[in-house]
Amino acid sequence: MSRRPFICGNWKMHTGRREAVELAREVAGGLDSVRDVDVAVAPPHPWLVEVARALEGGSVRVSAQNCHNEEKGAFTGEVSTAMLKEAGCSYVIVGHSERRAQFGEDDIFVGRKVRSVLAAGLSPILCVGETLEEREAGRTVDVVERQVKGGLADVDQVKLPTVTIAYEPVWAIGTGKTATPGQAQEVHLAIRDLLRSIGGNDAAGAMRIQYGGSVKADNAANLLSQPDVDGALVGGASLAAESFIAIVRAAAG
Ligand code: PEP
Repeated sequence: MSRRPFICGNWKMHTGRREAVELAREVAGGLDSVRDVDVAVAPPHPWLVEVARALEGGSVRVSAQNCHNEEKGAFTGEVSTAMLKEAGCSYVIVGHSERRAQFGEDDIFVGRKVRSVLAAGLSPILCVGETLEEREAGRTVDVVERQVKGGLADVDQVKLPTVTIAYEPVWAIGTGKTATPGQAQEVHLAIRDLLRSIGGNDAAGAMRIQYGGSVKADNAANLLSQPDVDGALVGGASLAAESFIAIVRAAAG
């Protein structure tokens, strides 16, 4: 089954208000002629509304970088999926390794968030990936499988095709060390097999698996040429319109 590539730029805790809107406009302007790729940008929460407004009417979508699973209540500093929807988001990144490592998010919490994103009618980008220590101990597939199972626990099967998995080896994020296309494909294939056992052939064939971890304009085409690499979650290189656009163009083939 052929899947439409999906590239998402994760701006993390970068950009000021004006910079965010300008970057979004530049990205949208540079992708005018690009078809057949889904594209999203994930600005910091305070800029979501303005970025969404700047992108209105075009094909570039907005993603949030995080959410809480509860609908409302005494959760100081948190943001619900309904709020993110109203702000103009189509996607929410869930379980990024920075959140797992620095904010103690476990598979159970991540799974709750995935279900909340889906309940709001948005599409989750579920991040999974092993640390260097786990890779060196030969535990990559075990770790990633545990994270995928936890993230997809109790998800309505009908909604599975709207979930994107982002395989992001922790040792490759922000380090300049990219997985080789072969290393990425090996894990993506293991994830695809697991998705088949969770949701059946159709869901597994439809679900996109992005690679993330130091994706740049000059390595994107090789990574994206792998049969089970369906797109990219891009951090650093998404902060400059030129490099992000080049990555999207590589996905367009
Ligand atoms: C990320 O944070 O999801 C990421 C992949 O970052 P970078 O591209 O900078 O490695």
